[in-house]
Amino acid sequence: MKEQLEQIRQKAIEEIESAQTSLDDIRVKYLGKKGQLTAILRGMGALDADERPVIGAIANTVREHIENALAERGAELKELALKKSLELEKLDVTYDGACSPCGHVHPITRTMERMTEIFVDMGFTVVEGPEVETVRNNFDDLNAPADHPSRDLQDTFYITESTLLRTQTSPVQIRAMRETQPPIRIISPGRVYRSDVADATHSPMFHQLEGLVIDKGITMGDLKGILSLFAKTMFGPETKTRFRPHNFPFTEPSAEVDVSCFVCGGKGCRVCKGEGWMEILGSGMVHPNVLRAGGIDPDVYSGFAFGMGIERVAMVMSGIDDLRLMYENDARFLRQF
Ligand SMILES: [Zn+2]
Repeated sequence: MKEQLEQIRQKAIEEIESAQTSLDDIRVKYLGKKGQLTAILRGMGALDADERPVIGAIANTVREHIENALAERGAELKELALKKSLELEKLDVTYDGACSPCGHVHPITRTMERMTEIFVDMGFTVVEGPEVETVRNNFDDLNAPADHPSRDLQDTFYITESTLLRTQTSPVQIRAMRETQPPIRIISPGRVYRSDVADATHSPMFHQLEGLVIDKGITMGDLKGILSLFAKTMFGPETKTRFRPHNFPFTEPSAEVDVSCFVCGGKGCRVCKGEGWMEILGSGMVHPNVLRAGGIDPDVYSGFAFGMGIERVAMVMSGIDDLRLMYENDARFLRQF
C-alpha cells in the first residue's frame, strides 16, 4: 500500500507540474470524494491495527504534498495568465490616436442661421411649418388665382389633389395668422419644392426665409426700414437697398428688393454681372384677402411680408456660381467654406 501511495504522489505531482490551465480536474481525480487517494484511505479498514496509523500518516503526507503542489502551480498559472493578458492588452500611449474627420456647417445652413440671427435680434420669432402643405394654405389663402401659373401640375409636386410639397414658405404666414392674434412678428426659414430640372440656377428643392409683420398702423416705411437694416447687417454697413415695383398675388403693393453689390460696392463686377445691384428678395404689404383668409380684419390691421432665397445669398457670399455644387456634398468642395 505504501508503494501505491508513493505512485499516486509521483503521478499527481507530475500532472500538476505540467498542467497548463485549470487544476480542478486533477484535484478531483486525486483528492475528490471518488479520488484515488480517498479510495486508498477508505480501504484502510482492511489493514492490521498496527499498520493503520503508519499508512494513515503516509497518506496524510501524500495528501499534503499534493495540496501544496496544487497551490504552488495554481499561483504560477495565475501569474502566467495575468502576464499573457497584459501582453495582449498592451497599450502604447505614445501611438498617434485615430481621429475621425470633423466637418463644418454647410454654407446654406450658415447663411440661414446668420439671417435668422439678424431677424431674431430685431425681435422676430422663428416659427416652422410642414413641408407637405394643403393646396389651400399654399395657394388659395395666399390669394393665388386658380389660373396662376405656379399652380400648374408641371411646376408643383402634388401629393394628392389637395396636398402638395410647399412651393414657398409663405403658407407659414397663413398658419401664423390663424394661430395668433396681432401683433405678429415672425420669420420662417425652411425647404421648398418646385418641379424644376436641376441646373446652375435651379433645383427641385431649395431654401427660403419668410418674414411676416402684422400690427395696427404698419406701413411700407416699416418694411423698408426693417429690410434696409437687415441688408446693412448682413452685407455690410455701406449696403444700399433699392425697391422695384413688382407683382405678387399675396402682397399689394409688391416690391422686389435689390442690395448694392457688396463685392464692388455698386461699380459693377462679375458677381453682380456689371449691374452694381443684386436682387435678393420679394416683399410687399400683405393683401387684404390674405389677412381675411388668416382671420384678421384688414380694416384694423395691416402688415408686410417678405421672402428670400437662401441659396442665392449663400452663393453670392461664397462666390459659387453653380447651384448644384451646394447639394453634391462633396467634402472637398464644402471644406473651402
Ligand atoms: Zn458687383
